[in-house]
Amino acid sequence: MSEVKQFKTETKRLLNLMINSIYTNKEIFLRELIANASDAIDKYHYLSLTDETLEKRNDYKIELSIDKENRTITISDNGIGMTKDELINHLGTIAKSGSKEFQEKLEHENVSPEDEREIIGQFGVGFYSSYLVADFVEVNTLSPYSEISYRFTSDGIEEYSLEESDKTTIGTTITLHLRENTEDNNFDEYLDQFTIKTLVKKYSDFIRYPIMMECVTEQPKLDDDGNPTDEYVETISTETLNSMIPVWKKNKNDVTREEINEFYKNKFYDYLDPLDYYQYSVEGNITYTALLFIPKKAPYDLYSNKYEKGLQLYTKGVFIMDKCKELLPDYLRFIKGIVDSSDLSLNISREMLQQDKQLTKIATNLEKKVIKHLQELQNDEPEIYKEFFEALGINLKFGIYNSYGEKNDLLKGLLMYKTLKSDTLISLEDYVREMKEGQKYIYFASAETKEDLMSMPQMDALKKKEFDVLLLTEEVDEFVLQILQKFDDIEFKSVNQGDLDLLSDEEKESAKKLADEKQDLLTKIKTALSGKVKDVVISTRLTESPVCLVSGDGISFEMERVMNDLPNGSNIKAERILEINPNHPIFKVLENIQDDKSKLTDYASVLLNQALLLEGFKVENPNEFIEKMCNIMIEATNIK
Ligand code: ADP
Repeated sequence: MSEVKQFKTETKRLLNLMINSIYTNKEIFLRELIANASDAIDKYHYLSLTDETLEKRNDYKIELSIDKENRTITISDNGIGMTKDELINHLGTIAKSGSKEFQEKLEHENVSPEDEREIIGQFGVGFYSSYLVADFVEVNTLSPYSEISYRFTSDGIEEYSLEESDKTTIGTTITLHLRENTEDNNFDEYLDQFTIKTLVKKYSDFIRYPIMMECVTEQPKLDDDGNPTDEYVETISTETLNSMIPVWKKNKNDVTREEINEFYKNKFYDYLDPLDYYQYSVEGNITYTALLFIPKKAPYDLYSNKYEKGLQLYTKGVFIMDKCKELLPDYLRFIKGIVDSSDLSLNISREMLQQDKQLTKIATNLEKKVIKHLQELQNDEPEIYKEFFEALGINLKFGIYNSYGEKNDLLKGLLMYKTLKSDTLISLEDYVREMKEGQKYIYFASAETKEDLMSMPQMDALKKKEFDVLLLTEEVDEFVLQILQKFDDIEFKSVNQGDLDLLSDEEKESAKKLADEKQDLLTKIKTALSGKVKDVVISTRLTESPVCLVSGDGISFEMERVMNDLPNGSNIKAERILEINPNHPIFKVLENIQDDKSKLTDYASVLLNQALLLEGFKVENPNEFIEKMCNIMIEATNIK
């Protein structure tokens, strides 16, 4: 009895997309199906370690066969198989989170055909990629947890059928009925054993289980004396198409970059080549081999709580688990890769892993190695390092931030910033090396772009002195500098916080004198702004602009903004200090009107609002601000 079921709507959309896909790289279907077969064997093996009811086996294999007459390709494995429910949930529905995400992306975003291709590549659509080349697919499968084997069939359009199957061995067999050839696509090429062999070599060489196929070879017929004749005989033999040696076990010199890239994309579902990879072995106290990758771009879900960090763990080449999170600190969550160690027991469970001393040792060693590698990259291949830092550097900042200083020494050298003078990233070491004589601090400013930075009034004096300023663009930046406090014993200083200490002794002297002289005026302005600012002072940092707002020594304006943006935002306020430029014509105006209390109050309030605007805050009371501005304009022109 066969049951006919409808595909879920979202599955239908995806299938429709696959069928009509402009996706040129149709050959990936084989890689996807082989990967599924290999995963299924992994699962069987892993379960059989703990589940007594599963027979222990050592005949794992994946078999391919081609039937030219019926135009079919069959991929068969002796892995875990699927129960009826699993068939429905895994093949009848988009189960894989990647495909779901993919679906959402397509639905919510205006996706061009090119993007579409990228997205398909990015998520890898697994089983459904069969429909890139087949218009009818048959799956026969038997799970050790089911008495009955099942057959799933579908043309991949609307519906699929389920019925009992006559399969008697545990595992899954998938038969693809190839599409008719079209002008643009010759599907017959997949019936050619040479094509299949090449594809397996290209995409699946490292698969740990033998991928076997009956191959026909032609050999010259021998005559009675054993010499070759002009006639040929066909011999059929079963060949293993893959080398089964995982890339990380191969001799480094025998592995091409291309092979590594393919391995990475295949294994970690990335559509881009990795930015960098790092392969090494450690022997001695602990023994392990690692093959680690830095992606070009942050995975789309890296910063969501759905993202699972971790490395694939093997022991002596046998798969243990997919994402061993104990191996990576949080701030290296973007690293993908594999660790193979002979020190771990084969049937180690997840719970045991957490306390495993060997594993902790590996993790500690691995962190050091990765940091060292990043340092080398920074020195030896600065362009690649910059690309890395642009894409993923924020994670290192979180490393400092989240460890409350414990990782300062490890990570501070790796930080990179754009600056007032440099449009490309430079390190703190570079900054310090280029510091001007007499410069006492490493200056920084929070701004979205360099243009914003340049237009900050506080920059005037620094520009004049030719001191460089770190441009901070990320929320976490100021917090990181606050935790670091110093680099090379030089303190960090925000350009809009407290005293910048830019003056020579002489200049300080005359500034102090000026401040004393004008103290009266300053006090009056402060009174006029009562409650709105902590202080009003003569500025030593402004050259062009009339006023600016700086914060006291506590938290900065940027931190105030970040903290108030938090979900349960605190109502923390940075201290506000209004600085007035004594060399700006407005200063004379203020001196002139200082005895007219109501005028001074209006002028002071307008100036404070200007300073707020420059700092990126809102004016306190827009109506009042506008009214005052208008009054001042009317008065200035004397037209009534
Ligand atoms: P993915 O393999 O990335 O999860 P697929 O769409 O390829 O996505 O497969 C969905 C699910 O179907 C798999 O997670 C697995 O549970 C099941 N599956 C696919 N192929 C096989 C197979 N050969 N043997 C057993 N289960 C399989």
